[in-house]
Amino acid sequence: MTAVVEVAPARPLMPLEEALERLLALAEAAPITTTERVALGAAEGRVLACDLLAGLDLPPWPNSAMDGYALRLADWQGEPLAVTQRIFAGHAPEPLQPGTCARIFTGAPLPEGADCVEMQENAEVLEDGRVRFVEPLALGQNVRPKGQETRVGELVIAAGTRLGPIQLGLAATLGFAELEVVRRPRVAVLSTGDELVEPGLSLGPGQIYNSNRRLLVSWLQRLGCEVLDAGILPDDLERTRHCLGGLGDVDLILSTGGVSVGEADYLGLALREAGELALWKLAIKPGKPLTFGHYQGVPVIGLPGNPASTLVTFGLLARPYLLRRQGVSKVAPLCFSVPAGFDWPRPGNRREYLRARIEDGQARIYKNQSSGVLRSAAWADGVVEVREGTTPRQGELVTFIPFSELLG
Ligand code: AMP
Ligand code: MG
Repeated sequence: MTAVVEVAPARPLMPLEEALERLLALAEAAPITTTERVALGAAEGRVLACDLLAGLDLPPWPNSAMDGYALRLADWQGEPLAVTQRIFAGHAPEPLQPGTCARIFTGAPLPEGADCVEMQENAEVLEDGRVRFVEPLALGQNVRPKGQETRVGELVIAAGTRLGPIQLGLAATLGFAELEVVRRPRVAVLSTGDELVEPGLSLGPGQIYNSNRRLLVSWLQRLGCEVLDAGILPDDLERTRHCLGGLGDVDLILSTGGVSVGEADYLGLALREAGELALWKLAIKPGKPLTFGHYQGVPVIGLPGNPASTLVTFGLLARPYLLRRQGVSKVAPLCFSVPAGFDWPRPGNRREYLRARIEDGQARIYKNQSSGVLRSAAWADGVVEVREGTTPRQGELVTFIPFSELLG
């Protein structure tokens, strides 16, 4: 009798956009809603939980943009003016005496009655102490009007914004000492594979050092996550069950490895027993296989094990997922069009992310784009996206995503 071999029809690859859309929808369905108040100094990298409204006008009063002289324009007919007061930043002025001017310094409040400032370089101090202005003057010149930056009640930073040095500086200008932020996501990081050994130990036959753990733990910390480093998980079902059971209260289990081949996919087996798991074959290179599922209600993302694949899939998919869990609205990295500094003659059926460096205004790609070569990324400034079915040539514009956009 002839054995009948059933060949399952190959599923089409999932476009990156679809995977991202699905992940973001999953993130929106499981938002981290707990918030906490933290001092500005502890808010770097956190996500603002409520809209920040201005509690004061900024600047609170008109002030001088220059070191110079404040006057009322209508008082000046071309004749020199007497100087009747000196106003330093941080000091309250007297109203301006009509027909005179005030010596004023940058950031000092304009005296009542003054409506323009002439910079000191255009003023000539006469022997009798009066000042002659040598250039024409205009109403409002060198004056920073009250409220030019914000007005009381205006939305200054929207909820869902990640707080960096600039946002924190802005919050400080408005007098905020604390901000309401979203609780840090707790992420368990697992590295799967019998071959893995931690740096510092010696390698046995067939073993390699675990690089993904370091890569992901550091990256997650930069993203403001609390990391539960669950170490290396051997390719063993019982140990995998035991490890998963001991992870405790986390928002995400992030694993690497074991997603490409069914045989050593013990994480997948354990997850299927206790929840559900989907294997997505993505139309990207590196990083074709990716899993998403739940273990006892906790979301799990399984990234491919090759380090460059881990990098690309974490940056393009897991990172936006984690940010969206915290309510971040803008999760897409800024990307730029740059001329290709290479030829790509063979069109692929997957979107390629080539580790590339910007040199002389062109994107040059690393010589070895293998998904196992993390050095390609260490050499690079970011990745060039080569879309499915395209063959960019030297000088043609390609999309470049800088690592600086992904790593923070
Ligand atoms: P896997 O998906 O488990 O078959 O792994 C794919 C490739 O990535 C194999 O060459 C693994 O040895 C390698 N790999 C998996 N996990 C890691 C890791 N944590 N660090 C470095 N290489 C890894
Ligand atoms: Mg493995």
